[in-house]
Amino acid sequence: MARPAACLFDLDGLLLDTEPLHAEAWQRAASRFGRPLTPTELMALRGRRRLDCADAVLGWISGSGGPELSREELLAVRQPIAEALLVHAPPMPGAQALVERCRSLAVPMALATSSSRSAVDLKAGPHPWLGGIAVRVHGDDPELQRGKPAPDVFLLAAARLGVKPSHSWAFEDSPAGAAAALAAGCRVHVLPPAHLDREALERDYPGIQTFLSDLHQVVALLN
Ligand SMILES: [Mg+2]
Repeated sequence: MARPAACLFDLDGLLLDTEPLHAEAWQRAASRFGRPLTPTELMALRGRRRLDCADAVLGWISGSGGPELSREELLAVRQPIAEALLVHAPPMPGAQALVERCRSLAVPMALATSSSRSAVDLKAGPHPWLGGIAVRVHGDDPELQRGKPAPDVFLLAAARLGVKPSHSWAFEDSPAGAAAALAAGCRVHVLPPAHLDREALERDYPGIQTFLSDLHQVVALLN
């Protein structure tokens, strides 16, 4: 298999095992306002920017007769919970090996994440190997127009590396992120949550051909 011109990595749920922690933080915050979230709702939040998630959760709370809250009120509850959890996020299996393989092969890398710069700094702190990915697009990047599922994050990441999206491999775990990478024209590798069956994969990830069981598979491809 030809080597990609670049690898564009999502962070949450792809390189770091943060998604259960993000879900728990949203769940505890929403429950505080009397509206526990369903598994489908939690899946829909995956991969999106914090403010986009907050708007969705506010809609679910008010739509079920709960209080009319501001983003700030919801996030004031959610953020301390999230920060206490996320600082302990472990790497996904094979993530460090993949980043190190790309580095040793001189395959350019970029981070294409919905997370804000401060959130990335918090989560990445205990993982010096993530320093191998120097080019980064954050969810609060001043040059970023729209968050995932819009393609902008991947288009900007490819532009910063000086490569064509169509020559790049994108790595994603979430439906919103996979849709973003596909719309950008990347070759998309999806590492889906382990609990999804084939029917759920086809429903939640339309157009995606390549599903991974872990990132060690990609390390083996890159020779
Ligand atoms: Mg993700």
